[in-house]
Amino acid sequence: MADTNFDVVVVGGGPGGYVAAIRAAQLKMKVAVVEKQHLGGICLNWGCIPTKALLRSAEIYHYMNHADAYGLSASGVSFDLEKVVKRSRAVSKQLNGGVGHLLKKNKVTVIDGEGKLAGPGKLKVTKDGKAVADLTGKHIILATGARARSLPGLEPDGKLVWTYMEALVPDIMPKSMLVIGSGAIGIEFASFFKTMGADVTVVEVMQQILPVEDEEIAAHARKRFEKQGMKIISGAKVTGLKKAANSVTVSVEDAKGKTSEITVDRVISAVGVVGNIEGLGLETTKVKTDRGCIVADEFLRTDEPGIYAIGDVAGPPMLAHKAEHEGVICVEKIAGLPHVHPMDKSKIPGCTYCHPQVASVGMTEKKAKEAGRQVKVGRFPFMGNGKAIALGEPEGMIKTVFDAKTGELLGAHMVGAEVTELIQGFVVAMGLETTEEDLMHTVFPHPTLSEMMHESVLDAYGRVIHM
Ligand SMILES: Cc1cc2nc3c(=O)[nH]c(=O)nc-3n(C[C@H](O)[C@H](O)[C@H](O)COP(=O)(O)OP(=O)(O)OC[C@H]3O[C@@H](n4cnc5c(N)ncnc54)[C@H](O)[C@@H]3O)c2cc1C
Repeated sequence: MADTNFDVVVVGGGPGGYVAAIRAAQLKMKVAVVEKQHLGGICLNWGCIPTKALLRSAEIYHYMNHADAYGLSASGVSFDLEKVVKRSRAVSKQLNGGVGHLLKKNKVTVIDGEGKLAGPGKLKVTKDGKAVADLTGKHIILATGARARSLPGLEPDGKLVWTYMEALVPDIMPKSMLVIGSGAIGIEFASFFKTMGADVTVVEVMQQILPVEDEEIAAHARKRFEKQGMKIISGAKVTGLKKAANSVTVSVEDAKGKTSEITVDRVISAVGVVGNIEGLGLETTKVKTDRGCIVADEFLRTDEPGIYAIGDVAGPPMLAHKAEHEGVICVEKIAGLPHVHPMDKSKIPGCTYCHPQVASVGMTEKKAKEAGRQVKVGRFPFMGNGKAIALGEPEGMIKTVFDAKTGELLGAHMVGAEVTELIQGFVVAMGLETTEEDLMHTVFPHPTLSEMMHESVLDAYGRVIHM
């Protein structure tokens, strides 16, 4: 390799890493990205994007099966799983190529290999065990992401017990399936396989599914899933898996300690992710780790000067947009730009693309009360919105939580059609420290689902119109 000295070396080319690299290049730094497997990381290749492609097929399949409700007819509706998966993989491939193109356009050097720190400022790169390069970087950004967590005794085998990787490229459409964990990843797969016709059971250790979401919103989503025929067992844990040739018998222990068995074709383990911190040479530095992630401050600096950590490897929330944002903050601070905003994790939106969708930002009602806030809460149902009725999507809700004393918008929570697109309105509002007054004076276009955001705010102050 001709050039081995860089201003910034980024380890990992996922959304955290490649965005950091592009921003650093824009700021006139000499940048290299070391990526061992796939540009775009988990997000583009095995996470956000291919799941959304699968869910899109499921959504269209759902509408085709319900064509009659719209005065249309579609007979012989069926699907070809291989083609559904092929489309999802093609979408990932297209975007993976796009990242390569963007890095090239920004004159970022991309090195195919695995990076390992050899002390501050030094990175050894190998490929298939062979040395590729010894790099030096004034600044080294660790953006190595995360991988599926596995629980002892419940380890995925890739055949009968899947992680998200196998679930994204299923070779069969299981007739029955059990999903362990009801976080965003588990629920999205449960929703996909349910819509495509599988008999789906979800087991969640907490009482509430989608445990980080507002209680009321999660309860609403649960009701809808159960109405679709999904079986949800919450406050229960999976204690064992017995595998047969083509099925798995799952032991589930409920809150009272009573165990029952459920036999399914396939199991998906969706019990969270852990940071990729192993084999990174952290021991050659002062970098600290905590519960499987690298400890970094609000500007993503680790305890070793010149070494930074961003994205999933730097801890929760493990979301692509958080990784990207951290990449930008980290690099702008390195470049010495004035007024770099530190990472504010309280305003990061979260979206789950199940049917119905769930989206939120800020504090839940419960969290706000626990934080000692006096709150005003507004709610508006999809049933009261003209666009929702016209779309044939009358079920759902938008909830807003305000500080009763100051009118500050503390949180917004949604369940229903297209809410993953709506939430950003409230993210912007919170970012601008908007109060109820500003939101009430804002004009929302008609007819749109966004009018429900307005109505929810009006409801919090006893001024709701359409309810
Ligand atoms: C099924 C699923 C669905 C998801 N859906 C969403 C969603 O809808 N929205 C959302 O915001 N988030 C979603 N996520 C989470 C999202 O994928 C992650 O938050 C995001 O990818 C994190 O970006 P990152 O850059 O930190 O890490 P990653 O995307 O994991 O990228 C890390 C990269 O580093 C590389 N790497 C690791 N170690 C080394 C090394 N030593 N040397 C060189 N390269 C290395 C890896 O190969 C990888 O490409 C989903 C995740 C999964 C699994």
